[in-house]
Amino acid sequence: MSRLWSPLIRELEPYTPGEQPQIDGLIKLNTNESPYPPSPRIRALMTEEAIAKLRLYPDPNSKKLKNTVAQYYGVKPAQIFAGNGSDEILALTFMAFFQQDLPLLFPDITYSFYTVYCQLFRINYEQIPLKSDFTINLADYVKPNGGVIFPNPNAPTAIGKSLSQIEEFLQKNTESVVVVDEAYVDFGAQTATGLVNQYPNLLVIQTLSKSRSLAGMRVGIAIGNELLIEALDRVKNSFNSYPLDRLAETAAIVAFEDENYFVECKNNIITTRDWTISQLESLGFSVLPSQANFVFAKPNFRYASSLAQELREHKILVRHFSNPKIVDYLRITIGTPEEMRQVIDVLKKLK
Ligand code: PMP
Repeated sequence: MSRLWSPLIRELEPYTPGEQPQIDGLIKLNTNESPYPPSPRIRALMTEEAIAKLRLYPDPNSKKLKNTVAQYYGVKPAQIFAGNGSDEILALTFMAFFQQDLPLLFPDITYSFYTVYCQLFRINYEQIPLKSDFTINLADYVKPNGGVIFPNPNAPTAIGKSLSQIEEFLQKNTESVVVVDEAYVDFGAQTATGLVNQYPNLLVIQTLSKSRSLAGMRVGIAIGNELLIEALDRVKNSFNSYPLDRLAETAAIVAFEDENYFVECKNNIITTRDWTISQLESLGFSVLPSQANFVFAKPNFRYASSLAQELREHKILVRHFSNPKIVDYLRITIGTPEEMRQVIDVLKKLK
């Protein structure tokens, strides 16, 4: 702390990203990255010409990427926003829509960055408790509000809502922006992108960091009504007008174009996830139903925090949260089949 800091920054409790340690042979299951490399077609993008062009600023509006994503989802390019990871889009979204008199509503157990943005942008918020089975009850959000945001599937629980439940909520909540954070949607939930033309207050945010294996490139997209996208553009152009670099834009285009590779990777992850859940259950874990590329599992034979530490000693990194409501759980990203076999073998020894 320094007296030179602004008062707001003195009070801020920043988000703690999962560790990125450089340890040989580490099985890294703590930040929900894909265990698979991005589309092999990305290699061809590093041409002499592309390298030479790095001297120039990128397209501030990522038009080519917007065209690709618009075609992919059957909407207009003006309904797409592209940002430097979905975290950046979330930040712009909180600024663009949620600084209201009424509180922003989101679940009490959810992506922990939401409360950080609320502090940073001085947004009034109310956290709505999950039900006892860790599901979100959207009926609890039907009340006057300054906005609603939830991940689908939720994180770190991995449990999703059906599209019809989301639509039912949108019919009842027409006066504020509803953001569906679809960071993990491709692993088993249904995207709400098909509803954006019907509900002008719906903004869907996705990331290329998970199902499209590009966490290192930092690309996120938002899909919604043109007026919502215009608001995001206004904030973007008041903050950083070139959020996507040249390589990130071209890599993101390839990630959307190489549909077969995308489908193959996500299907492999889903298969490995379902195998992992059955193994964990037979080892004495309670595992929440997962529609994501991670599982939220409670070891019934050891404190979750001690187990995380023991796994770490075996070079396996998982995520443990100190929030008392979920302190008994571990969030375990789904790795390759071989990595998950190793995890299960280690757990058998530790049990
Ligand atoms: N939303 C949720 C629910 C997440 O878990 C994450 C990943 N930490 C993000 C958004 C941000 O992802 P990125 O910035 O890599 O796009």
